[in-house]
Amino acid sequence: MNGSLRNGYLEAMGIQPWVRRGLQQADAQPVEAPAASGHPEQVQPVTGAAPAPSCATLDWPQLESAVASCTACELHRTRTHTVFGTGSRQADWMIIGEAPGADEDRQGEPFVGRAGQLLTEMLCAAGLQRQDVFITNILKCRPPQNRDPRPEEVASCHAFLQRQVALVQPSLILAVGRIAAHNLLETDTPVGRLRGRIHHYGEGRIPLIVTYHPAYLLRSPLEKRKAWEDLRLALQVADAGQQAPAS
Ligand code: SF4
Repeated sequence: MNGSLRNGYLEAMGIQPWVRRGLQQADAQPVEAPAASGHPEQVQPVTGAAPAPSCATLDWPQLESAVASCTACELHRTRTHTVFGTGSRQADWMIIGEAPGADEDRQGEPFVGRAGQLLTEMLCAAGLQRQDVFITNILKCRPPQNRDPRPEEVASCHAFLQRQVALVQPSLILAVGRIAAHNLLETDTPVGRLRGRIHHYGEGRIPLIVTYHPAYLLRSPLEKRKAWEDLRLALQVADAGQQAPAS
């Protein structure tokens, strides 16, 4: 991505691009700030529940079909469309949010509407296109009035997400927002205290970074700077993973 385009996305996030000392503004490229001193705190890996046997061996078409016809929880009664997920099925990054909202329920795609547009801008600021990552949610059906998912709904839907993770085999998971972070990490620690640390998900210990939901960032634009810090940490973790020697 060229520098001016990336700078445009950064400015859309309310972030002033870094400029190397001595560079003319016209030549300016955003550069990564130095890593924070010390190692990010690591927490114990969290192992997700075992996938339902009927889901653990499904391939992509079978899984997509199983979601589309699912009636395992009450949300199937009020949905317009299931929202399976979009993007590359061989992605290095997996973006996991909460649940479909009204726009997503209507269109059958995750992260559309204004929040989706901001997520796209956040990814572009990090040098990623939406089609480069796989985007999905904890729940595949919309909770009425966008209420928080109920534990039994999350439990019913968990095997689908777990199978998606197993099929994508991402090198990094970005948990977007409180509901995603709490369910993936099985904690109720506030998002503000989960940010800035490298967590791990599942038996594969996939590195997991927590950031704010773009819908929250639309309401609290001053927090966009923190979301950018989260993306920089995610980039560092992804780069380190790619450079790590095979064991
Ligand atoms: Fe099935 Fe998940 Fe939709 Fe509930 S939310 S009906 S478990 S696909």
